[in-house]
Amino acid sequence: MRETACRKALAGKPDLLENFDLSLASVRAYLADNPPEPKQKGLVLFSCAKDECFEAFRLSVPLKNLMVLDTSPYIRPLARLRDDWESIAVVILDSENARLFTVSSDRVTARKKNGVYLLGKHKKGGMSQMRFQRLRRQAIRAFHKDVLGDLKKLLRVEPADQIFLGGPGIAKVQFLDSLPPGIRKRVTEVVDLDLNVPEGEIRRRFVSLAAVEERRQDRAHVEVLLAEILKDGLVAHGWDEVTKAVRAGKVEVLLVTSGLKLRGWKCERCKVVGLGDRSTCPSCGKPVSEMDAMERTVKEATQRGAQLEFVARDPDLEALGGIGAFLRYK
Ligand SMILES: [Zn+2]
Repeated sequence: MRETACRKALAGKPDLLENFDLSLASVRAYLADNPPEPKQKGLVLFSCAKDECFEAFRLSVPLKNLMVLDTSPYIRPLARLRDDWESIAVVILDSENARLFTVSSDRVTARKKNGVYLLGKHKKGGMSQMRFQRLRRQAIRAFHKDVLGDLKKLLRVEPADQIFLGGPGIAKVQFLDSLPPGIRKRVTEVVDLDLNVPEGEIRRRFVSLAAVEERRQDRAHVEVLLAEILKDGLVAHGWDEVTKAVRAGKVEVLLVTSGLKLRGWKCERCKVVGLGDRSTCPSCGKPVSEMDAMERTVKEATQRGAQLEFVARDPDLEALGGIGAFLRYK
C-alpha cells in the first residue's frame, strides 16, 4: 500500500521513481536472503540505489512498521528508541549478598552475584557483643566496597543513567550512603525487595518504575524549560527558534514531543526549509519537496551533537509548539 502511494507521488518524477524501484528491489533481495535471527524483533533498512547505499540493522526490540521515502535517512524512530529504552543498573543486596543486573525494556541480564561470610549471625563464645558488632560493621563496609567495585565495572561495560537499589532491611540504605557522589546521584529508586526475587519479577517491577521515572524526568525537563523562558534564560522554543539555534550549533539538549510531525517543505538547491504547504521555493522559484520539518530538525540536531529527549504528551510543551531546546550559549 505504501509502495503504491509512493509510486503515485513520484509519478511525475521518472528519475526518482526509478531510484525508488531499484532501492526497493535491494530491500526485497535482502529480506529474501536474510530470515530473522532467533532473538531479532526489529529490523531497520536504509536503501538508496542512486548512492549505492544499503545498510541493515537487526534489533532486539520491536518497532512500528514504517516505510519512509526521503532525501536523507529517516532516523527519528531510532533516536527515540535510544532515549526510551536506556538500560538501568540494578543492585539488590543485604549485608552479605548482592546481585547485580542490567535491565532494559525487553530483557534482564544477571551480571554478578556475590556473597561473603560475615562472622555468622550469632555471638561467638568469648567475643564481647561490642567487639562482635564492630567486626561485623567493618565486614559490611568491606563488602559494600566490593559491591561498589562490581557496580563500577558494570557501568563501564553498560553505561546506565539510572541505578535502582533494592533489598530487605537497611543494608541498601547503608550501601547508598557509602556511594561516591557521582554514582549516588544516579540512584533514582530504593525499594524493599526480597533478595531472591526471580528475574522476571525484577524486570516487571523495574521496567514499570523506569517508565514512571522517564515520565517524571520528561516533566522535570519541561518545567525547567518553562522557568527558563520566563527569565529569558538559555533556551529556545517553537520550531522556528529551535531550528535556528540547531543550525547555529547552540543546542545542548533538544526536547521533542514524541510522535509529533510538522508539515514542511525544503528546497534542495537553496538548502532552505520552512513550515507549511508550498509548491515553489521563495528564493529560487523552483519546485520544493514536502517533508516532516520536525524530523529534519531532530536529524540536524543529532548531527551537531545535541542530546535528544523525547517527551510523551505534555500539554505545556505542546503549547510551546511541541519543541524546545536548552542552549549552550545565546
Ligand atoms: Zn530554492
